[in-house]
Amino acid sequence: MEMINLKGKTQEELDEFAKSIGESAFRGRQLFKWIYHRGESDFDKMTDIGKELKKKLRETSHVSVIKLVDRVTADDKNTEKFLFQLADGNLIESVLMRYEEHLGFGRCTVCISSQVGCAQGCTFCASGKNGLVRSLTVSEIVDQVMQVQSSMNDTAERVTNVVVMGIGEPLANFKNVVKAIGLINHGDGIAIGMRHIAVSTVGIPRMMKKLADEKLSIRFAVSLHAPDNETRSKIIPANRKYPVESIIDASKYYQKVTGRRITFEYMLIDGLNDSLDQAKMLGKLLRGIHAMINLIPLNPVKESPYKRPARNRCYQFAKEVEKFGHKVIFRNERGTSIDAACGQLRNRMTEKEKGS
Ligand code: SF4
Repeated sequence: MEMINLKGKTQEELDEFAKSIGESAFRGRQLFKWIYHRGESDFDKMTDIGKELKKKLRETSHVSVIKLVDRVTADDKNTEKFLFQLADGNLIESVLMRYEEHLGFGRCTVCISSQVGCAQGCTFCASGKNGLVRSLTVSEIVDQVMQVQSSMNDTAERVTNVVVMGIGEPLANFKNVVKAIGLINHGDGIAIGMRHIAVSTVGIPRMMKKLADEKLSIRFAVSLHAPDNETRSKIIPANRKYPVESIIDASKYYQKVTGRRITFEYMLIDGLNDSLDQAKMLGKLLRGIHAMINLIPLNPVKESPYKRPARNRCYQFAKEVEKFGHKVIFRNERGTSIDAACGQLRNRMTEKEKGS
């Protein structure tokens, strides 16, 4: 008999599971708290569950845990990268970023992956290099947050924010990502507020609209990286299928349905998308959208020929976009010393394995 994995199940599904093994729905709610709130995967340690039920649970089910195989801390001590191994041997990455905020309150953001590899093939990204292997299950998505949290359990730190911005295209794994967000948000479990959860997409218009219709009050980001199709197609091959106009149209729909501001990510690459003309085009393109433009000077990747523009050029670009009334910020670079750009640690490990 195939053992049922209880991690990845919603409260309602655990209620149903409990009933299916002859227990009351109340047992399902107990399991939900043990699994997601206390992070427990060993039935024997669930102290308010009786011997008989523990036996039934052991015979029918299990609570999966992804295995931590490497943990690297950046020189700034505020960024840590986690490499996890999944049950089938595949590797995924998550990144923890600590931010000191005013009034002494800290923010701990975990950037999680949604797929093993990625089909989008963005030319600046290490994760797209070898294509898509498979999408992550709900439990594998949620467990990244849980395992990073459990690594901090001896401290007073808590994961406060989650961004689905690691390896993979979240909207290409729509059902599992949306279900995982519900679990990460649930008040009896991990309990991270919707406004503290962000999803970033390279732009699949149909799925952007579908996400809008879910009406989640999450933060939403679109990786634009260029205002014109010619340049964008060079950086993001998927642009040939989903051109800039279709992404802007879907962004407008998203905003109309959710009423929420959209972040547009723009990776600044020397000589490719950092001209003042492109800054003007970007400003014009986003007119009529309540947008925040996140400028990210490229984090150089070993596998990529691209370079980071000079600091002054980045500021000039930002000023030009601001002339159109848009809010522009620079995203802090994090963890260059540990290859924090998505996919780099996984690729390094895979190369090491190939070489050994
Ligand atoms: S940047 Fe994101 S969408 Fe593009 S290849 Fe990398 S993981 Fe995939």
